Amino acid sequence: MSNSVESMRASFRRVASIAETESLRLISEIDCRYSKRAPARTRAFECSVCGYTGRFATAWALTGKRPLAHCPVCRAAERHRLQSLVLDRIAESVDFSKLAMLHVAPESIFTERFSTCCGQYVTADIERRDVDLQLDLTGLNLPDNSFDIVYASHVLEHIRDDKLALSEIARVLRPGGFAVLPVPIACLQTVEYPEAVASEAWHVRAPGPDYFDRYAEWFRVEAFASSDFAAKHQLYVHEDRSRFPNRYAPYRTPSPGPLHVDYVPVCYVR
Ligand SMILES: [Zn+2]
Repeated sequence: MSNSVESMRASFRRVASIAETESLRLISEIDCRYSKRAPARTRAFECSVCGYTGRFATAWALTGKRPLAHCPVCRAAERHRLQSLVLDRIAESVDFSKLAMLHVAPESIFTERFSTCCGQYVTADIERRDVDLQLDLTGLNLPDNSFDIVYASHVLEHIRDDKLALSEIARVLRPGGFAVLPVPIACLQTVEYPEAVASEAWHVRAPGPDYFDRYAEWFRVEAFASSDFAAKHQLYVHEDRSRFPNRYAPYRTPSPGPLHVDYVPVCYVR
């Protein structure tokens, strides 16, 4: 009986969370539309994904709002703009047209770029149907040495056995290959959650900058930070994290300051 009650509660939390998240997505969309038409005198930034110059919009989420987060034209968030610049940097010395990429949980903002620039491009997800392969990162049904690049942004924070996922990513990478594995850095030090948190899109942990130490067993990590690129692209996460923990982020620990560095770890297989 207690199991079924708990199951009903979990279902209710899931539905409530989806409804609240959808409402906030609509508010973010309205903010984007307003920002695009905002007066030119407002503070302007340059989107590294689509080239738009002008005001950026606030992102609204259950865990709090993030001012200056979204490009109002292509909807790129801080992480997308930083990742785009990192990819530009890598492309200075790497010919993507000769490489095969596995793009896990593919973001539409990058699919056209990757499918155009890579010699071979395969999309994958554990649940979605609009991908080439349905794959579980903790048990990849792929041969060893299958790809030159594995791109999985904001995925590992959903996976409890992340070390198994990392070992699988390393296994399917060819010698000389690399993985791009950013996660949302939400705390000063990584916090493992006792349960997946619905209001955080079912994250099982809040990574800190120390999280990338876990990659070292399989990879040599080169981490790019917000501060490595021009400020005009607005690559920092503006968020009040002094409010953590709270109802929507019950296991996060507080961080001081109004803005936070984001990172993109490029992980070269050992
Ligand atoms: Zn843009």
